[in-house]
Amino acid sequence: MSIGRRLVWIATWVTLLAYAVGLLFHGKGFDPLIDGWLGISADAFPAVVAWLAVSGSGVRRREVTCLAGALTAFAVGDSFYIIAVGKGLALPFPSPADAAYLTFYPLIVAAIALGVRRELRGVSAFVWLDSALGGLGGAAVLAVLLGPVFEDLPGGVFAETVAFTYPMFDLLLFATVVGVSAIHGWRLRTSWSWPLAGLAVITTADLIYTLRIAHDSYAMGTILDAIWPLGLALLAGWAHFPVARERVRRPVLAMPVLATVAGVIVLAMASRTHVTSIAVILAIITLAAVSGRTQLAFGQLRRLADLRRQATTDDLTGLPNRRALYAAVSEQLNGGPRPHALLLLDLDRFKEVNDSLGHHIGDQLLVQVAERLRAELRPQDVLARLGGDEFAVLLVEAEQSHAVEIAARLQGSLADPVTLAGIALHTGVSIGIVLAPDHGSDISGLLRRADMAMYKAKTTRSGHQVYAGTDDAGGAERLRTIHELRTALTEGQFVLHYQPKLDLRTSDVRGIEALVRWNHPRRGLLRPDSFLELVEECGLMPALTRYVLDMALRQAAVWQAQGRPLSIAVNVSAGSLLDSSLPAYVAGQLTARGVAAANLQLEITEETLMSDRNRARVILTALRELGVKISIDDFGTGYSSLAYLRDLPIDELKLDRSFVSPMNTDIRANALVGSTIGLAHSLGLRMVAEGVEDSATYDELRRLGCNEVQGYYISRPLPAAELDRWLGDRRALPPPRSEAVAPFPATP
Ligand code: C2E
Ligand code: CA
Ligand code: CA
Repeated sequence: MSIGRRLVWIATWVTLLAYAVGLLFHGKGFDPLIDGWLGISADAFPAVVAWLAVSGSGVRRREVTCLAGALTAFAVGDSFYIIAVGKGLALPFPSPADAAYLTFYPLIVAAIALGVRRELRGVSAFVWLDSALGGLGGAAVLAVLLGPVFEDLPGGVFAETVAFTYPMFDLLLFATVVGVSAIHGWRLRTSWSWPLAGLAVITTADLIYTLRIAHDSYAMGTILDAIWPLGLALLAGWAHFPVARERVRRPVLAMPVLATVAGVIVLAMASRTHVTSIAVILAIITLAAVSGRTQLAFGQLRRLADLRRQATTDDLTGLPNRRALYAAVSEQLNGGPRPHALLLLDLDRFKEVNDSLGHHIGDQLLVQVAERLRAELRPQDVLARLGGDEFAVLLVEAEQSHAVEIAARLQGSLADPVTLAGIALHTGVSIGIVLAPDHGSDISGLLRRADMAMYKAKTTRSGHQVYAGTDDAGGAERLRTIHELRTALTEGQFVLHYQPKLDLRTSDVRGIEALVRWNHPRRGLLRPDSFLELVEECGLMPALTRYVLDMALRQAAVWQAQGRPLSIAVNVSAGSLLDSSLPAYVAGQLTARGVAAANLQLEITEETLMSDRNRARVILTALRELGVKISIDDFGTGYSSLAYLRDLPIDELKLDRSFVSPMNTDIRANALVGSTIGLAHSLGLRMVAEGVEDSATYDELRRLGCNEVQGYYISRPLPAAELDRWLGDRRALPPPRSEAVAPFPATP
């Protein structure tokens, strides 16, 4: 800060002091030295201080400029007035002095507003509201004190307006003071103390002045005249000293309460004595604003409560969610050394229901399951849905025996089927149990171990399983298998075995089904049942499907080159059929290998079609337009009906083994197969029976008009070379003459 600025600042106060002392010894009439020179200087110095501060005010430049303008306006107005009085001129009302005075108010309010806005950027609207409330309440009270001024307005519309404007501006200033103080939680040790003290002083001076004028008792030359310059000097202090950015404190309840008290007092006074209508209007506005603010606050509280609830509730079932479970478990674990049990539940076959009947039914099933589970628990136990078909139960203060008993009860609760959309759905649940603190004392470790126990319960179909240290090995094994699957894909450890399908009318082999095997480096040749689920789970199915397609088409090309145009059937899982790039891939592969599209068959399960029927239909249609044949695998095991099959672009049904095997011992199974074949034919579909293991079944299927058969009776799935030999042997045989003679060589 320059020496000059410091000197001017000191001069401001010295002049003010001299003026005040002078006024104390002031005689009657106008004193040129005191009223004139000292009065005008005391008014002018603060303005000079402010103007000098503008250049160094940085981010506050606009506020300080406004302030300097305001101080100048006041000084100009006051000087004009003093000179006029000194010259003995009778000033009219309003005069040019009033124009200058009145410029002071909006400029000073603007300066304060700019400062407040700079400080409050990003602060909750409630802070603004509360300070506005404080201002309103304060203004209502002040309006009562200013009553006489509002009553005794001079004649003439213009004069009346100007006279009315002064007290209104005072109300505004006072409201600003109260409001800004409220923002800072009434702690005025802040840099705001300069301008607020300044405004308070000026408002007070105005108040005393207006009251004196109203009672005709004002005369120039009393100590009152020093009060304005004091206010101006204080205001100048705001510009003179640098301002530190201060933390805004939240005026919690005090503001609305004080504003309410102010409003009520004013209204109470109005009912007893005469109070100006301005005060009454301000009081009413204050009370209305307080009630609005309260509504807002309640709304916000409600939203907060809602948010908190939503954050801990599962939308679908209304149960606590994962977060809520974590909180509940932590609370119990921290609560002392008592034992608790944590159960992790995973529904069996839920994915099937979801895929085949749609998410809507799946959701309803989850809701019903949640209700049944909840009914088995004590009020203090927590049942949470972790997501998907996974639930967890926290049994508060429970030993292992109790936990096992509850697990059995939970399983029992799902024994009866849930009926949805007219379908009786059977769901089961696999439960992993961990005990705290025996199996761990942190929630994530406990859940991980519960997951291992659950996985064991699922794979062993035991229903529920208490965690045993060795389960970790199972989890590690699984992880290793996932890793190995990836390697298997990149290193080509998958091979195909081929199983022929036989045309019952001509006894020709028309098609071959490709069945994947994993040639595991340690565990030997693995059947698909032991790894497909994991492939699907870790998202490797689309890769495997392409891999198998590739190998199968390579083999088809070989047979084609050997003059044996056999069609090849490839199994496509549900997930792969949702892959919209599949048709383009298939088309590319067919062209690359030079295999006719009609020689490729894709076997899909009913579930695939039901899960996302529209998408599946689009992809199937695209494949079929290529000329690829579509076959429905495991027909009869899903929830589909022949009726909807009519609408889908398919060529063939493969009746599931579970219908074919009991055909010869169960009359009803036999009738079912017969009528299914009839229905398929009426829809223009070919029927293939799989799992044919004996001649009796073979003969019966032929009698019933089945188109093709596949099964161990004809041949087991064989590696390509062995199948070639089998096919060669078969050609060497004479054509079959009777049903008693098997039309194919025995399987090796
Ligand atoms: P699937 O499509 O129903 O295949 C027929 C299964 O029945 C084969 O088991 C086959 O070996 C077996 N099988 C054939 N004839 C008979 C019989 O007379 N009696 C009995 N009991 N079983 C017979 P596999 O090869 O273990 O395949 C099991 C399942 O794995 C297949 O069932 C199919 O759903 C799936 N799968 C096989 N290969 C692939 C593949 O490349 N991709 C996909 N996504 N799934 C495949
Ligand atoms: Ca199949
Ligand atoms: Ca099948």
